[in-house]
Amino acid sequence: MRLRNITGSREVIAESPYVVQEAVQPRCPGTWKEIFGNQNPVQIEIGMGKGKFIHTMAKEHPEINYVGIEKYSSVLLRAIQKMEQEELPNLKFLRMDAEDIAKVFGPGEVDKIYLNFSDPWPKDRHAKRRLPSREFLARYDVILKKSGRLEFKTDNRELFDFAVEELEPAGWKAEIITYDLHNDASLMEGNVMTEYEEKFSAMGNPICKYVIYR
Ligand code: SAM
Repeated sequence: MRLRNITGSREVIAESPYVVQEAVQPRCPGTWKEIFGNQNPVQIEIGMGKGKFIHTMAKEHPEINYVGIEKYSSVLLRAIQKMEQEELPNLKFLRMDAEDIAKVFGPGEVDKIYLNFSDPWPKDRHAKRRLPSREFLARYDVILKKSGRLEFKTDNRELFDFAVEELEPAGWKAEIITYDLHNDASLMEGNVMTEYEEKFSAMGNPICKYVIYR
């Protein structure tokens, strides 16, 4: 998702209390419990877009701390506006490229990672940029606690097949794989729809999902 550049979005982000600022990010590893002021588990969404999923999750699970990560200021701005309408103490945002994720979370500091409708980067030469690639799985391996899980949803079958093929070489295993999430009643229990999930399932696209561990 890339919105038109919105004038002033960088300034809004720089002053937002909901955003952990870039100047502070190098000091973040190992301090997320302090940042939230409690001992609750930390779950993150990488590439959250406008934040519908993570905002809903944070509202439904006040006993969990959530961090939404987004690369583009113009998109993050929408998530900030949602927080201004409905403030939640257990949700923070980071504006950053997920390539640097291990500079912001310490080893094993994250309890769960969500990837939702990640950009497909269809050209082979861009495979390393795909968020479920083995290169990214190696970064997640550092920050995710040993018993942690990573959940990925997409309607893009090619990206999903690629993601499944990456698991073995990266040392991860699938706990759950479905190619039609919305027709699986047990997996749909507690499912929170993302913005893209609403859009693409309304068009009739089946939604793929895996839950992985190592
Ligand atoms: N997760 C949302 C959903 O399901 O509705 C948004 C999906 S959108 C297709 C993907 C989002 O991931 C975009 O907003 C994009 O800017 C962000 N993104 C892509 N690569 C990223 C990266 N390396 N680091 C941080 N965000 C990234």
